[in-house]
Amino acid sequence: MSFVHDLFRILPNFAALDMKTAIVGGGAAGFFAAVNLKEMMPGMHIDILERSQHVLSKVEISGGGRCNCTNSFRQVRDLSAVYPRGHRLMKRLFNVFDHRDAYQWFERHGVPLVVQDDECVFPEAQDAHAVIDCFMSLARQHGIAIRRGRKVQSLDDVRDYDFVVVATGGSPTGQGLQWLAALGHEMEPPVPSLYSLRIDDQALTALQGLVVNDTIAHIPGTKLRASGPLLITHWGVSGPAILRLSSYAARHLAENLFQVPLSIHWVQLNDQEVQAALYDTAIRQPHKLLGTFNPFGLPQRLWTFLLEKSLDKRSQIRWTELNKKDVNRLVNVLINDSFLTAGRAPFKDEFVTCGGVSLKAVNPSTLESRHVPHLYLAGEVLDVDGVTGGFNFQAAWTTAYTVARSIVAAAGEDRH
Ligand SMILES: Cc1cc2nc3c(=O)[nH]c(=O)nc-3n(C[C@H](O)[C@H](O)[C@H](O)COP(=O)(O)OP(=O)(O)OC[C@H]3O[C@@H](n4cnc5c(N)ncnc54)[C@H](O)[C@@H]3O)c2cc1C
Repeated sequence: MSFVHDLFRILPNFAALDMKTAIVGGGAAGFFAAVNLKEMMPGMHIDILERSQHVLSKVEISGGGRCNCTNSFRQVRDLSAVYPRGHRLMKRLFNVFDHRDAYQWFERHGVPLVVQDDECVFPEAQDAHAVIDCFMSLARQHGIAIRRGRKVQSLDDVRDYDFVVVATGGSPTGQGLQWLAALGHEMEPPVPSLYSLRIDDQALTALQGLVVNDTIAHIPGTKLRASGPLLITHWGVSGPAILRLSSYAARHLAENLFQVPLSIHWVQLNDQEVQAALYDTAIRQPHKLLGTFNPFGLPQRLWTFLLEKSLDKRSQIRWTELNKKDVNRLVNVLINDSFLTAGRAPFKDEFVTCGGVSLKAVNPSTLESRHVPHLYLAGEVLDVDGVTGGFNFQAAWTTAYTVARSIVAAAGEDRH
């Protein structure tokens, strides 16, 4: 081995002195890849090529403007529950860079974080600009060039670069994936994920604004179900349980044009438990009207709605008058309230794309394309997406960091 060879091995940065990387896409994954690559390899010349005039625009609106940048993962037992697509890849790449690394990274780079009771992690400033300012100031400090209005549509557009990182985000229509498909990358058809559902039922939507804490939303005839708080809106239903269901059922819902039967369990109890609670109340509160005593702690307006829906005129009776038929009807509406969804709500609460570049198209350890050497993919452009709670940004940080590390290794290799 020559002296020069050894020198490049020890100082990979030295090897990058005349190397250039194009980061295509100035979003979360693009910036994270750029900044980390520069920190690992200060000699690398890096350009971020962004098609629009605005960078980090999703970060700015994320988490209601507060940016839920990761999750503590304390309540996550199985990654497939939070990454319906890509959980195996995430498990592998968490060995390289996981949520703890992300947490430390932000704190080390001047963005103190807080973990909420629901395990979601936000900047202590409760403002997404804390993350944006961090990235922008690091980019400035490191001399990373941000080239706005530069839409990349072919390899020819980045021919002057030694390495290319594609971090173009989700492409709901698939248009943004065409140039990658033309290069031979396998694709998973894009469909939306993380949206509210429309239900045309005036009696339900009259309850808009109500939050029911422990629900299960389920698509009958499938194993697709999600639990958690549910919000009734003027359109239908939303909240964590519904957003999660829209993620687990993303393909099923899209295939059925978002019109499917939906069963809502307003309480997380089985039929015997609900029956027992009803009979118990009939014994303890015999003279109270059904409407004035609600044994499940449900919001009063919802309880009235459920009584009227299941018992109609008998909803006015006293607990002592409750008969077996009433109990069966009430059980049914409490743990299997049936609706038909009429579509998805148009609001982009936290909309992500399921699908994108298939994971078959990349080396799972380096995220280098199997079709184009020195081209890497990071973030939502890949067929990886998570439920709400900071998991999508975590996927962006993890994949972007992996790509930065892979380029450092490849840049060193190339000089040997
Ligand atoms: C309203 C909303 C709120 C959200 N809140 C959260 C949250 O709180 N927590 C969470 O974890 N996730 C959240 N998400 C999801 C999260 O924002 C995305 O998963 C994440 O931004 C993906 O990062 P990315 O860098 O892969 O893609 P993006 O952030 O979409 O960035 C891609 C960039 O590439 C640019 N681009 C695209 N094509 C080209 C091209 N051909 N040439 C050049 N540039 C191109 C785009 O203009 C864009 O700037 C939210 C999403 C939305 C819409």
